Amino acid sequence: MHEFAVVGMGITGLSSAIRLSEYGYNVVMLGDEKSASTACAGIITLQLEDLRDIILVKESIKIINELIRDSSLDEVGVTGRGFISVEDPIEAEESAELLKKAGVEFKQFNVGDALQIWPWLVLNKDEVVTLTIDDVSVEADKFIRFLIRKAVEKGVRIEKKWVKEIVYGERHRLVLSQSGEIQAEVVVLCLGAWTRVFLSKYGVSIPVAVLRIPAYRFRVSSRIISLADEVYESYWRPGVDGTIVGGGYHAEIVDDPLLFFQKPPDRFRVDAEKLLRLRLSSRAELVEEWSGPISITPDLDPIIDNLPGYDNVFFIDGLRGYGLMRGVALGYLLADIVSQRRGLDSIEEYRLSRFSNIF
Ligand SMILES: Cc1cc2nc3c(=O)[nH]c(=O)nc-3n(C[C@H](O)[C@H](O)[C@H](O)COP(=O)(O)OP(=O)(O)OC[C@H]3O[C@@H](n4cnc5c(N)ncnc54)[C@H](O)[C@@H]3O)c2cc1C
Repeated sequence: MHEFAVVGMGITGLSSAIRLSEYGYNVVMLGDEKSASTACAGIITLQLEDLRDIILVKESIKIINELIRDSSLDEVGVTGRGFISVEDPIEAEESAELLKKAGVEFKQFNVGDALQIWPWLVLNKDEVVTLTIDDVSVEADKFIRFLIRKAVEKGVRIEKKWVKEIVYGERHRLVLSQSGEIQAEVVVLCLGAWTRVFLSKYGVSIPVAVLRIPAYRFRVSSRIISLADEVYESYWRPGVDGTIVGGGYHAEIVDDPLLFFQKPPDRFRVDAEKLLRLRLSSRAELVEEWSGPISITPDLDPIIDNLPGYDNVFFIDGLRGYGLMRGVALGYLLADIVSQRRGLDSIEEYRLSRFSNIF
């Protein structure tokens, strides 16, 4: 019997479980280590297009810095700090306005100055490079393994088991796929792209589209800083052993969870390679490619709510391609909601009811 059962071992599940155990609750976390979080490209950046998202990432970075304080960068999987984006002058001006509003420190460089600092970068006339320094890049699977160890250290019980069904009652019963069950007073569903199918079994439909997106690892001869190319549309971060990880902004709709981690189509890889060569002057050799699922709501914001009709069952979904960076702060927020430190009415902007006009 547990006070909280957190289902899903991605970034949102781990963050909520860590926060709940810091509050002193008895927490069990269930799930599979394989997730969008372990498959993701590992970029945590302040350079986003939405003020609320930037503020969430600021909060995530603060929490991450606290969690990793006593660990080596290698243990955590951190491969770099700082982030640059390459933009045309108009976009660069808009980005500067937004970063100022969010209170984020940044610096902008013209082509000549930028090439002095990042000589491996290929830039076109008049482009502007914006640098922020607090951003973090990680090898995502290593970072998630670090957070799992952190959760255990803080007292979270981990059950690497799939939840087949929830039987609702005063104490909810989570029936496990293999065998057995877990009981908990409060259930927190952090199922990422699996949420839509899971909730549909309980007659709850949520407006999310599930996409599969690819990522690539190349071996390169230059040591890069993480970057977004907003002109040709690609993103890259430094990886381990002289590699970089990233890709273009490619995506395809996928409905069947069995296909979530399938190898990406060759045309995406060919395109990603071309995009990389437009920005990187050094040689690049493909090392590996993979893909993973993301879920997206119509207004691009996540959904956090209780399951309509079921007391003490909550869920979060719809973190799209920015889930690793926003998921830490959102997981902490979710922990506050499910432990009633904050009311759901304080996060109306994330609740399911905002879509009532499209049901
Ligand atoms: C290729 C790729 C690159 C990306 N790059 C970035 C990036 O650079 N930066 C960034 O911020 N975001 C990035 N993202 C997005 C990010 O990965 C996601 O938004 C985020 O990981 C979602 O986290 P989550 O906790 O909601 O879901 P997930 O991490 O998917 O976790 C859900 C977990 O629930 C488990 N689960 C599902 N059903 C059950 C069940 N019935 N019982 C038990 N467990 C269950 C799953 O196995 C999984 O472990 C990328 C995504 C992909 C695919």
